[in-house]
Amino acid sequence: MKSNKMFDVIIIGGGASGLFAGAVLSLSGLKCIIVEKNGRVGKKLLQTGNGKCNLSNRDMCLKNYYGDSAFIKRIFDKAPQKRILSIFESIGIEIVEGENGKLFPKSMQASSVLDSLRFAFEEHGGLFALEREALSIARKDNKLIVKTESETDEFCSDAVIIATGGMAGLERECKNFFTMIKRLGHTVKEVMPSLVQLKLDKELYKSMAGNRVEGGIVLYSNSESVSSDRNEILFTEYGISGNAVLNISREASLFLMQGKKVELSVDLLPDETLNETKSILKRRMESIGKRKAENLLNGWINKRVGMAVLKSSGIDLSRQISSLTDDEGERISEKLHDFRFKVKDTNGFRNAQVMAGGVATDEVSPDTMESEKEMGIFFTGEILDVDGKSGGYNLHFAWASALVAADAISKRLKN
Ligand SMILES: Cc1cc2nc3c(=O)[nH]c(=O)nc-3n(C[C@H](O)[C@H](O)[C@H](O)COP(=O)(O)OP(=O)(O)OC[C@H]3O[C@@H](n4cnc5c(N)ncnc54)[C@H](O)[C@@H]3O)c2cc1C
Repeated sequence: MKSNKMFDVIIIGGGASGLFAGAVLSLSGLKCIIVEKNGRVGKKLLQTGNGKCNLSNRDMCLKNYYGDSAFIKRIFDKAPQKRILSIFESIGIEIVEGENGKLFPKSMQASSVLDSLRFAFEEHGGLFALEREALSIARKDNKLIVKTESETDEFCSDAVIIATGGMAGLERECKNFFTMIKRLGHTVKEVMPSLVQLKLDKELYKSMAGNRVEGGIVLYSNSESVSSDRNEILFTEYGISGNAVLNISREASLFLMQGKKVELSVDLLPDETLNETKSILKRRMESIGKRKAENLLNGWINKRVGMAVLKSSGIDLSRQISSLTDDEGERISEKLHDFRFKVKDTNGFRNAQVMAGGVATDEVSPDTMESEKEMGIFFTGEILDVDGKSGGYNLHFAWASALVAADAISKRLKN
């Protein structure tokens, strides 16, 4: 026989956003349960910021987000960063600022953020139902009923927060939950991996695997420049990674999905003009002319990367530098500013940090995060069609949307 358990609020998903909403709601005295499909909550949270949890950023400019900016702004106005940080402080997390405005827990441990959220939730009566994948939400006698795969129990309440996150970082893609959301009458915008590494089509990159450079990146779709960034670039066994690549990966993902030709151009000397590069190269060709060509760029740019530039400029590495012609010098200089690669694919959801796309935001109120299709149902975090750049923006959106939903629910249930 099924036991029907009654709560003020049911939160589906014990990730960043569900835990934050749970902590705020429990602190306000409401009886909540977090229904989580895994055996433990906050698994992804533990991986964030390489285990350090880059939980927000000082620069909350909307240009760091993709999605409806009016919708996002409204949420941030309702849940100011100052309030979010003071909630963290009140539950035991001291905040510290790192490079580029990134905010972290002072412990530099994602586990401390997870612990503090968990403790705050449980200390005030919050309950977890672990290993329970929510499968459906139905309305019965004016109450919302959440059914899980468990034969024995279902959960009943006036408010349900859907905080199920996206497919990024998951071992296997899981679109089940979208079916349930669509059944509620919601539109789900096409999803794709973002903040993800890219696979390249030339074998050349393999000779550079493991080498990092600081450089510029321009992304081309059907030969048109569509996005650029300047940051760290890392060559890998499958292609290319690093913050510069992650930051343009959303556009790469989109154009690949549309079947367009996608290319990357790496500028290895973004601080120099082409003319400056030509004259430096000319000087080097004279001063170290006795060495082999493989050493031409050594000491100027990363050796392995330099050798790959030379190879792709058609230079035989065993030649003497002094034998190189002016034309070859020009070719090498150009390649140093425009080292081109065809992008074959992204590295998939499994290796992505965030999912772009999701529940259409014009069907959700930014003042409450409540569904405009089904009263009492709220959406928070990555499941929504909002995603941010790398730098703490995705976690910040998870906290902010959770806070707006928690405030709205507290206000309604306590009146
Ligand atoms: C490797 C990695 C590093 C990252 N680093 C950062 C960073 O440093 N800074 C940053 O801002 N962002 C970072 N992100 C992104 C950030 O982690 C996410 O944007 C954020 O966790 C989203 O929060 P969420 O609550 O919406 O979803 P999640 O944190 O993914 O939580 C969703 C939860 O719902 C559960 N769930 C799903 N479906 C069901 C169901 N049907 N029933 C019950 N439970 C369900 C899941 O098991 C999960 O526990 C990183 C992501 C990855 C993968």
